[in-house]
Amino acid sequence: MNAVSRDFVYEKFSDFYNDQSTFIPPPPSLSQRELGFFLSKERTMLRHKVFARISDLKSFISEVVPSDVYRSSAYYENPAAEMDKKGWLGADLVFDIDADHIPTSCNKLHDEWTCKKCGFANKGEPPKKCSECGGEKFDTKTWVCEQCLNSAKDETTRLIDILQNDFGFSNEEIHVFFSGHRGYHVHVENEAVKSLDTMARKEIVDYVTGLGLTISNQRKKERKRKQASEKFFLSDFAWNKRIKHGMSKFISTATVDDLQNVGLNRVISNLIFTKKELILSKCIGKGLWESVPGVSAGTWRKLSEYVKELESSKIDTVVTTDTHRLIRMNGTLHGRTGLKKIEFSTTRLADFNPFEEAVAFKEGAVKVFVPEVPEFRLGGRVFGPYKNKTVEISIAAAILLICKGRAEVAN
Ligand SMILES: [Zn+2]
Ligand SMILES: [Zn+2]
Repeated sequence: MNAVSRDFVYEKFSDFYNDQSTFIPPPPSLSQRELGFFLSKERTMLRHKVFARISDLKSFISEVVPSDVYRSSAYYENPAAEMDKKGWLGADLVFDIDADHIPTSCNKLHDEWTCKKCGFANKGEPPKKCSECGGEKFDTKTWVCEQCLNSAKDETTRLIDILQNDFGFSNEEIHVFFSGHRGYHVHVENEAVKSLDTMARKEIVDYVTGLGLTISNQRKKERKRKQASEKFFLSDFAWNKRIKHGMSKFISTATVDDLQNVGLNRVISNLIFTKKELILSKCIGKGLWESVPGVSAGTWRKLSEYVKELESSKIDTVVTTDTHRLIRMNGTLHGRTGLKKIEFSTTRLADFNPFEEAVAFKEGAVKVFVPEVPEFRLGGRVFGPYKNKTVEISIAAAILLICKGRAEVAN
């Protein structure tokens, strides 16, 4: 980002924060939270700030115009003190779902890397070593597209389902946000989670991601022969129930190739494919798992391992276990997109469109030079694809491109 573009972004962020209609919803117990700010001009992080009222915080933001505003997930006795003297009182249970942690096929289309040593550039994720010079350091440019955010949304949908149905949190206790960049945040705010320590949070992470889950088989002792035969079995509780539902969903639409991808051989894959109605109703529906000859306990175990991956939620595990984490403040701008972090109801997850609802800059246009960017949609309009082109586009689109390192303000 050159100086002209940096000034342009700063000015627009300043307009946004100085606008009377800009609303920054305070988190519960604002005065017990540590606030942090990234100052783009100074390139420094300002931490350990505390504000008694949201109006004080708003005045401060309007004045310093940070590129990013954060607040602690924790509640402290003295949020302004040094880390070990803050007096930890508890923390919300927070989850971060970011496209960076989800394997998507679109990164090959829109992400770029350049070798820092020789300048060789290519698309997709950077390799371990540059194929031209063996260099190991790269500049990367990511992008955020509808496919990235839809994958993040799928993970979020599964997480919320687990939080509601397996943990029993209510809609009122679960808050879901668009992060302003490549994903979603989910916060659980209730008294029971507040005091959980790192280990307890790690247990929750393991549950959500399905880590350490073993599909146990019911051992049926056949006393007469003094032998133990392993039988496949799933209960109607928690993960067992999830896997059962997931397996029905998977088998009902799977092709023979899909089944082979699970690691099943061609004969068994064909068998499951041709007898899928019977398998769905008898094996899964009635729990007579091994009633179709050829579909063994081993087959079911392979299928459950595969389905477990489909049904778990790919959260950024570190964010949940860190009880002192700073997280982006709701209603503020993301410094890498100029989009807002916003909350919406869990019931609206399917329809929520971040490229419409998180747009902060609604008016105006500006000329920018764009080296390369794929087609994208923002604020009801379609832009690009552009390559080495000077274009006049909406302020929102220009800020997004500049912040993502994809454009500069044109003279
Ligand atoms: Zn190189
Ligand atoms: Zn994408």
